[in-house]
Amino acid sequence: MHWHVLGAGSLGTLWAARLARANVPVTLLLRNRQRLASYRQGGGLTLVEQGEASLYPVPAQSVDEQSPIRLLLLACKAYDAEAAGASVAHRLSADAHVVLLQNGMGSQDAVAARLPRARCILASSTEGAFRDGDFRVVFAGHGHTWLGDPQQPSPVAWLEDLANAGISHEWTPDILSRLWRKLALNCAINPLTVLHDCRNGDLQQHPAEVATLCTELSELLSVCGQPAAAENLAEEVQRVIKATAANYSSMHQDVARQQRTEISYLIGHAWAVAQRHNCAVPHLQMLLQRLQKHLQERHLPGD
Ligand code: NAP
Repeated sequence: MHWHVLGAGSLGTLWAARLARANVPVTLLLRNRQRLASYRQGGGLTLVEQGEASLYPVPAQSVDEQSPIRLLLLACKAYDAEAAGASVAHRLSADAHVVLLQNGMGSQDAVAARLPRARCILASSTEGAFRDGDFRVVFAGHGHTWLGDPQQPSPVAWLEDLANAGISHEWTPDILSRLWRKLALNCAINPLTVLHDCRNGDLQQHPAEVATLCTELSELLSVCGQPAAAENLAEEVQRVIKATAANYSSMHQDVARQQRTEISYLIGHAWAVAQRHNCAVPHLQMLLQRLQKHLQERHLPGD
C-alpha cells in the first residue's frame, strides 16, 4: 500500500519519516507549489530523536496533482482537517482509506461528510512531537496510537506497515470511547491550565474546580451513550495531573505561542453535545465562556 501524508507538521512528519525509514512507500502532500519548492530546497524531512537529527528525503507533491490516493494520513489540526481533506477528494480512489489523526471530536465527522466514499479510520495518539524548524520535527514523547472504525469493526491490512515502521499501535473496535475519554480528560485539565496560567501539576491547588468538572463530564458521557468513557474519570484526571505535573498542557502551549487552539473540537464539542442532549453542564459552560474571553483578549480565535 502506498501512503500519502497530508500535513507536514509534527505528527505528519513523525509518521512519514518512520514509514520511509522502514521502506514503506510514502509521499508527502503539501498545500501548494510554493511549500513544495521550499520542501525540496531543504532536501527532505528531518526527524530529531534523542538529540540526533536524521534527514529523510521523502518524495513530495502538492495537493493539486492528479495521481490517485488509496491510503491517506490526514495529519493537520482539527480546524484545518475538513478543508485539507476536501483539497484531495478528487484524487481518492473508490476504495480509499483515510486515517484521521486529529485531537478532539467533530472534525472527523466533518471530513467523513466531505469524503463519503472513503473509509475513515479514527486515531487517538499519545505520541508527542513538536516542530523546531520548517520540515523539522523533534520526537518528544514515545506513546501509543489507537485506531478504529466505528462503522466497520474489522481491522485493516496496512497495520503491518505501522508494525514495520515501529509505530506502536493497536486496532480497537471502541475507538469512539477512547476519543471521548481523551476529550473528557482534556476538558477537565487543559482549559484550567490556560485560565490559571499554570502547569498541569498546579491544578492540585484547585481540587473543587476539577472535581465539579469531572462530575459534569461523567454525566455527559453517560447521557451521550459512552458510559465506559465515564468510568473513574475523576481518578484518572488526578492521576494524569500528577503524572504530568511538570508539563504545560497542549492548549497552554498553543496560547503561550500565540497559536490558534483546537477548543471547538474539545470543550466546545462537549458543550455542543451537552446542548443536543439537554444535559445541564453549567460549570463546563462557564469554563468555555471564560476560555473564549481569555483567548479573545489575547487576539486569538475563540473557536
Ligand atoms: P502541526 O504541527 O501544526 O501540523 C499540521 C500541518 O498541517 C502543518 O504542517 C500544516 O501546514 C498542515 N496543513 C494544514 N492545512 C493544510 C492543507 N490544507 N494542506 C496541506 N497541509 C495543511 O500539527 P500537529 O501537532 O502535527 O497536530 C496534528 C493533530 O494531531 C492535531 O489535532 C493535534 O492536536 C494532534 N496531536 C498532536 C500531537 C503532537 O505531539 N504534536 C500529539 C497528539 C495529537 P503548514 O506547515 O504549511 O502550516
